[in-house]
Formats: sequence, C-alpha cells, structure tokens
Amino acid sequence: MRRLVLTNVRLLDGDNAPQDNTTVVIRGDRFESVGKGPYPESDTESDVYDLGGRTLMPGMIHGHYHATYTDFSAAEKLPVGMEASPALQTLRAAKHLKDALYAGFTGVVSAGAPYAIDADCKKAIAAGIMEGPRICAGSRDVSTTGHSQDGFEWHWGQGMTAQTNIADGADAFRKAVREEIKRGAEMIKIFATPGHGVVGEYGGLEMSEEELKAAIDTAHSRNVRVRAHIASKEGSMASLKLGLDVLDHGDGLDQEVIDLLLKKDAFFVPSIRYPYEACKIWSGSLIDQMRQGYEDMIKILPVANKAGVKMTLGDDYGAIPLKHGTYGEELEFYVKLAGISPLDVIRWATKFGGELLTGGKDLGTIAGGKFADFIVVDGDPIADISLLANPANFLAVGKGGKLYGSRLDALARKPAAAGVLQPAE
Ligand SMILES: [Zn+2]
Repeated sequence: MRRLVLTNVRLLDGDNAPQDNTTVVIRGDRFESVGKGPYPESDTESDVYDLGGRTLMPGMIHGHYHATYTDFSAAEKLPVGMEASPALQTLRAAKHLKDALYAGFTGVVSAGAPYAIDADCKKAIAAGIMEGPRICAGSRDVSTTGHSQDGFEWHWGQGMTAQTNIADGADAFRKAVREEIKRGAEMIKIFATPGHGVVGEYGGLEMSEEELKAAIDTAHSRNVRVRAHIASKEGSMASLKLGLDVLDHGDGLDQEVIDLLLKKDAFFVPSIRYPYEACKIWSGSLIDQMRQGYEDMIKILPVANKAGVKMTLGDDYGAIPLKHGTYGEELEFYVKLAGISPLDVIRWATKFGGELLTGGKDLGTIAGGKFADFIVVDGDPIADISLLANPANFLAVGKGGKLYGSRLDALARKPAAAGVLQPAE
C-alpha cells in the first residue's frame, strides 16, 4: 500500500503548540507516524509532498449539526422546515454535508434530524453514493407532550412525529429512545428546557427527572449517548447529575455547573453564535432573554475553558441567520468575542470534537494510529484564525487518508530518475 507523506510541515496536532519541520506519514485510513525532520529522498514508493512550512491540522468537527435545517432564501421558492417533503429535506441534507466536508469539517455530530435522515446519509456516504463527513447520527427530538417545540409544526400528516418523538412517562421514554436507536441514532437529542431561542419560560425541566433518567439509562444500556437542549442552570445540574453526555447551550453556566461538567467528564457546546446573530435582526422578550444568555456566557466561557471543560464548536446553522457552510467562521467568533486563544479554539474544533464524535480517542488529533482526517492550510491559523473560515485557503482536505479538493500536486516531490546525472552546481 502506497503511503501519503507530508513533509516540511508546520504541525498543529489539535492539542499542542505548533511544531515546525515535521513529517507526517499516512497509510490507509490512519496516520502511521509523526516525526521531526525531513523525509528520505530515496523513498519512491510513497507520494511525498513538501508543504514548505504550511500548516497541517486535524479536520474540524462540527459539534451541533442539523443537516436538514435550511437557510435557503425565498428566491429558491421551495418549502422550508418541516413543510418540506422528506425527499427535499434529504437532498438539502446531502448538499450541506458535502459542503461541510469541503469546508474542512471532516466530521459532524448531529443535534437532531427528522425521519432517519442522518443515519441514512451516513450509510449513503459509507456506500459511496454521496460525499460527506463522518457523522454521529442524531435522533428525532425526544420530549413530552406540549413541550416547547410541540405544537407549531403540523405537516405531511406527520404531526410532530417526523421531527419529534413525543413520550410521557418513564416507560414511554424508554420506548422512544429504543425506537430512535432502531432507526440508526447514535446520539439521542432531548429537548429538556425551553430558552436559547425556543419559546417558553426559562426554568426547570420540561419532563420529570424519572423520565429523563429512563431516557439516559436506556440509551447508555445500548451504548448510545444523550445530548440535551438546556437553557437554565437548574436544567443543567439536574441532567448532568443523571448522566447526560452532552450539554447543549447551557445558559446559566456558572462555577457549580463547570465543576459538575468536569466531574462527569461531559461535553459542553455553548453555541452562542446563533443567539448573537439573531439578536442583531430581531427583537422582543424572547430575544432579550437570548441576549442576556449569550452576554453571560461570553463572561464565563474563558473560565470554563481554563478549567478544562471539553467544549466544541457547533451551532444551529440553517436556522436564519446562520448560513450552512460558514461553520469555520465560528473559530474567529470565539477568539474575538470571548477571548479564547486560537490554539484553544482549534482544540475545541479538533481534539474535543473528535472525542465527541467517536466517544473515544481515535479521532481529532494528529498522532500515529489515529484516523487520518486533516486539512492542509496555506498559512498559519494561529497567526490568523480567520484563515479557517475560507476553504480557498485549504490545499487539501483529508478524510480517512482520502483527499478531497486536493491542490497538492504542485508540491509533489519528484524523485530524480535512476541513472540520470544531476548537473553540478
Ligand atoms: Zn440545535
């Protein structure tokens, strides 16, 4: 098997400070080795590219992805949201997923999708029917009758059942979670509280703790994880104590919640780009709540980051005003707005994102034995984090050792033909 070798690399491994003059060897779908110094000229069995000091970093991971959310404008003249047919929603999901890959996002962790669109897109990508990133497939939203998302989308004769699996009582939550797993969900999404853009008063859980516990325990018994939309401290504390794996939004974050996140080794997806952008274009009491939520979050995020909370990128792209494909702008957003360092926010996007996607340690950093997902960046993202917002700055995106949109040919090392004398200098 031919190896892919990237030499003279400025390595951003997803965790540590950059290391210059590095050589990274890829064999099959994994990184084989990472070493200092140049690669031997004598190897003609490998495809060797001299990056000339350009940056190699892990592929980025989107930690809160909704493949079917659509930002298509009125000009498209097609239905949006749940009034769109399953077919149209799937076609849009396919486009968004492909765009994510070429935007340097080699993995997405779903925060929910209708029908079983995530799970089927994942199968289609694996089968070579479409191009896309690695997917941790999400479920429909699981929540209770009359909860804040239940009641304003009634289309295609499906009621809420296309997007939401309504459950009441612990037994019903067990059944709902098992149904989602049967459909292919690897991450159960629960709407546990309103707030953060969802109609309703901030406060406690929209379900009993008994129901939430039943959902979490059932998912864990089948090696599936649970994430929850939560926008209150009470909701965060109650859910984390019950074993929640991923806290979404987490408005009301404070030191007590940070300590519990660390103790439980749970992931946190602050996702404040959506409220930040929404507050620019809308007004009203719901918007005022959102503004307060993100302003408080901006203050506490550096504390959570310094404490070592596993945070990831990801937000409600496709919900107006966030456009699909602009995911890479989020790194600069957190650097500028919350004062997170470029190296730290890259760690959110790569190391922590990779761990969130797989639930293990085999994705998200560049080291021997890990999955070979990477981006070659024409420049230094530590010096200019905005480089990661524009795919034109990527000379190649790699997923499982396979190159997408590669412009590496100009950097190929052409070994001298055997027996040909090189002219003396
Ligand atoms: Zn969401």
